[in-house]
Amino acid sequence: MTSGGIILKSDREIGIMREAGRLLAEILVVLKKSVQAGMTTAELDVIAAREIKKRKAEPSFLGYKGFPAHICVSINDEIVHGIPGPRVMKEGDIVKIDAGLIYMGFQSDSAVSVPIGEVPEDVLKLIDATSESLMEGIKAARPDARIGDISSAVQQFVESRGYSVVREYVGHGIGRSLHEPPQIPNYGVAGKGLPLRKGMVIAIEPMVNVGGWRTKVAQDNWTVSTLDGSLSAHFEHTVAVTENGPEVLSAL
Ligand code: MG
Ligand code: MG
Repeated sequence: MTSGGIILKSDREIGIMREAGRLLAEILVVLKKSVQAGMTTAELDVIAAREIKKRKAEPSFLGYKGFPAHICVSINDEIVHGIPGPRVMKEGDIVKIDAGLIYMGFQSDSAVSVPIGEVPEDVLKLIDATSESLMEGIKAARPDARIGDISSAVQQFVESRGYSVVREYVGHGIGRSLHEPPQIPNYGVAGKGLPLRKGMVIAIEPMVNVGGWRTKVAQDNWTVSTLDGSLSAHFEHTVAVTENGPEVLSAL
């Protein structure tokens, strides 16, 4: 069923997406445990490929608009869409792992930020604030609310901690396609925007910068970094709007 271009999911479809999300959560646990200093981001991609296959799911990022890998790995001032390759991860880095898969025709999409070894206190604060801002956004995803309530909840929380939210990249609806309407910005005004309805499934994904919100794209045409070179963190969950409130699908 569609509503204003938004594809509402049936309870049966949400059941499949719950499984797609659970499998992805398992994989992210494996990836988080695997990340270590001295490892290349390409090695992390190999693990992702293996773990997706092991679960009889399909990679969704590989080949998406020509993306050449199974996951995105973005380090330090890189925000999102980093391409796994020969770069070696090192102590003190923040590594953002964004992963997705397709299970029985449905997508899940989730991201985490992982510190490697000993990192400065301010890096841990950035990671915690970003993770908490995602939780604030999720709490706002109720069937009596509007998209602006999610956006505002994320933005208010992030800015109260002295950080900025990326504006040029946003969350999104998700289902049989990785990106469906509506867009879910991480900034906005409470009470504005489309009403949320039971059966909507959305990816909420705050990208939070220590410095300004502006971004740049690298010469590889994928990797997005902070324009001012400041550190960035990213967390994402696939969330269903149910009559009882938000349900995080990409969790164990
Ligand atoms: Mg993602
Ligand atoms: Mg996403």
